[in-house]
Amino acid sequence: AAAPLPSLEELVEGVRAGRRATLARAITLVESRKPEHRALAEELVQALLPATGKAIRVGITGVPGVGKSTTIDALGTHLLERGHRVAVLAVDPSSSRTGGSILGDKTRMARLSMDDRAFVRPSPAAGTLGGVAARTRETLLLCEAAGYDVVLVETVGVGQSETAVADMTDTFLVLMLPGAGDELQGIKKGIIELADILAVNKADGPNAPRAKKAAADYRAALHLLGGREPHWSTPVLTYSGLTGEGIEELWGQVVLHRERAEQAGALAARRSTQQVKWMWALFDDRLRGRLHADPSLRTELPAIERAVANGTLEPTSGASRLAALLGL
Ligand code: GDP
Repeated sequence: AAAPLPSLEELVEGVRAGRRATLARAITLVESRKPEHRALAEELVQALLPATGKAIRVGITGVPGVGKSTTIDALGTHLLERGHRVAVLAVDPSSSRTGGSILGDKTRMARLSMDDRAFVRPSPAAGTLGGVAARTRETLLLCEAAGYDVVLVETVGVGQSETAVADMTDTFLVLMLPGAGDELQGIKKGIIELADILAVNKADGPNAPRAKKAAADYRAALHLLGGREPHWSTPVLTYSGLTGEGIEELWGQVVLHRERAEQAGALAARRSTQQVKWMWALFDDRLRGRLHADPSLRTELPAIERAVANGTLEPTSGASRLAALLGL
């Protein structure tokens, strides 16, 4: 059985002092779905709020095999050498759906996981994507309060999770494979539109020319899309997570993006838009959670869903029935 929880004061003090063990306890608390834990977790995050917000928050996505863990290991090690404190978090919806995790394996970042100056935390496993992402966002705040000044949030580029990660970070980095032709078809345009930086990995050895060609194709594609923001046009780089070549330049672009956004007032604007978006997402989750938590309400749901699925009930009427169950 787990040891009893520390008090709120002990948690606040321990996290602010950067104690790893307390940070880990605090994250476990935040990830817990027990109502009494949720209440304490909320108080904790609220109490730590003044100590948050100072990190460079970077989202990193790309298909399985693109080299996310290799890149994060190389980038994280580079940042530690430069005196940064690095936390690595993950949003991995597969871990909650199947119990297996694409991103969970600790051995994926061999150097970083061994280094005391880094904090590597696998994705929370329980719940819906919305729930998993919400917990990760709170964990990000805890890491900031514990003094980590760079937080890397990793996710697999295969679903909805990229948007959730883009919504909790300042700079969104999309990793690509050399061989752009096919890639451009396979990758959803939406992900490219989310990118603040596009980076083609594996630009080493015989892959190097293909990586350069891919980068040129992406540059052209981005040019057609047009810029999203007046102060920034998405750069396309090539690098190698394996050899480390180009990693420094990649980080240079992250820092530049942040500086430009800060100067343009876009960083504060992005974060405040994110805050409000999260509030509504959490509220929506809570309403749905109510339906599922109450056994007498929950039993009504399959019939309503079935009726909507087979076309005997209009979605609008279905929604009205759900709202009525909640007394709305
Ligand atoms: P992830 O699934 O996105 O985390 O990808 P991994 O980091 O596990 O990498 C997938 C495979 O690609 C592994 O076999 C890596 O060794 C290899 N890989 C990753 N980065 C590079 C790179 O820069 N160059 C080369 N040649 N291989 C790489």
